[in-house]
Amino acid sequence: MDRVDIIHEFFLDFNKKPFANEELVKHFISRTSDFEDNVLKVACQELSGSDGNMPKVQQLVSVCRKYSQSMSTFQAEDCDICGGSGLVKMVEYRNLEGGKSSVYSMNFKPEKGQMFYSTVKGRCKCLNGEQYPAYPFFEPPSFIMIEAIKQGITGNYLVDNHCRELNEIS
Ligand SMILES: [Zn+2]
Repeated sequence: MDRVDIIHEFFLDFNKKPFANEELVKHFISRTSDFEDNVLKVACQELSGSDGNMPKVQQLVSVCRKYSQSMSTFQAEDCDICGGSGLVKMVEYRNLEGGKSSVYSMNFKPEKGQMFYSTVKGRCKCLNGEQYPAYPFFEPPSFIMIEAIKQGITGNYLVDNHCRELNEIS
């Protein structure tokens, strides 16, 4: 179960159809992209257990933060890849048939109905990554870091931006 499934299920728990609320679903996925999938899952489960209206995205972010170690102040060193979070993200997408894949180029041409999301792929090889021994090491592909350095931002930040841009044109 990945973060798209988790958010879809969260919507269903509140009797909202994910595909009829696509923009909102994208918004929830994007606003929680700093959290690992398992943190997101626990947070959604906690909120789904409560009665009443569907929580706003800010409530979900707060509960994620409560469960997340990645929001701790631990920061061993500056890092151009992870920005100090210790985790490395990539843009993935789903197409209409439900298949999913990673985006492997800045020139990727999105098609109608594809949904893009940034997701944690593993831990960074810098010192910050040492707080996540359970994660495999992951190095971002060179196209990400080449573009990030060109723009003067971290790799993770570029991934979030790229994801937002792709969603706007898909
Ligand atoms: Zn790093």
